[in-house]
Amino acid sequence: MTSFATLILVLSLTSSAVFSHASGERNSTTGQDDDNELDSSERETEAPQGASDLIEAANNGLARLRSGPTIQYGDIAQTSVQTRNAARCTSRGCTWRRRSRGYVIVPIKISRRYSRAERYVIIRSLVEFHRVSCIRFVWRRRQRDYLNFKPSSGCWSYLGRQRGRQTISLQQRGCVDRGIVQHEMLHALGFHHEQSRSDRDKHVRILANNVRPGHRRNFRKVKTNNLGTPYDYSSIMHYGRFAFSKRRGVLPTIVPIPDSTAVIGKATKMSGNDIKRLNKLYKCRGY
Ligand SMILES: [Zn+2]
Repeated sequence: MTSFATLILVLSLTSSAVFSHASGERNSTTGQDDDNELDSSERETEAPQGASDLIEAANNGLARLRSGPTIQYGDIAQTSVQTRNAARCTSRGCTWRRRSRGYVIVPIKISRRYSRAERYVIIRSLVEFHRVSCIRFVWRRRQRDYLNFKPSSGCWSYLGRQRGRQTISLQQRGCVDRGIVQHEMLHALGFHHEQSRSDRDKHVRILANNVRPGHRRNFRKVKTNNLGTPYDYSSIMHYGRFAFSKRRGVLPTIVPIPDSTAVIGKATKMSGNDIKRLNKLYKCRGY
């Protein structure tokens, strides 16, 4: 694809978002209660929910229902290679390729099964990357590697660039949300969860006894490439205090240290550190 054609696609994607609905936050666009998995008492303790809580709610029971790839860490789809070696993603060439004029071009497709309003939420959430980084999403034409947004069961994504068509699943009920789109996109761009970071034990304590049976593996540490950025409680990639808890709102599974009252996992969009990390990984200049 020529750089001129790329530019046209970038512009068409951007203009689609410009003409999107002005409201577009999660309830107004999906028409669903985003926290339907929780009862009212839990809402008082937990509201407002961050993207990671919404992902967990949407993915509740996913292991029983889905017929797609194996999901680990709550929402990361695994290839057979990654199952063996998920840790090395960002340091082993799973990034998207840098192209001309300093942009990193990421071709995308969005399923026609989404409504117009849902497509706008996805597009608008992606266009935010254009403003803060050198990532440029373009409509896929003939590119071999591309991201395919589709409403499978649950919210999930692969870690880093795969070969060929690569699914990002955003089920219509509960996953079409700005923070979730950005969270799953950051997985596809090569980033793991914040509380999986290699240095996480200096910043959070994991209370394994409070984790629901069968979910402890979601809290494994990973040899991440932290790119010199600080640990960030407000990262869109950070789980909440009651992630995979036996009793949400009562038994925490992640406690920040030293200040156990610090707010964690409530992000609804990319944080400053998420953006800094993205620009470092992709060597974006001038952002
Ligand atoms: Zn995730």
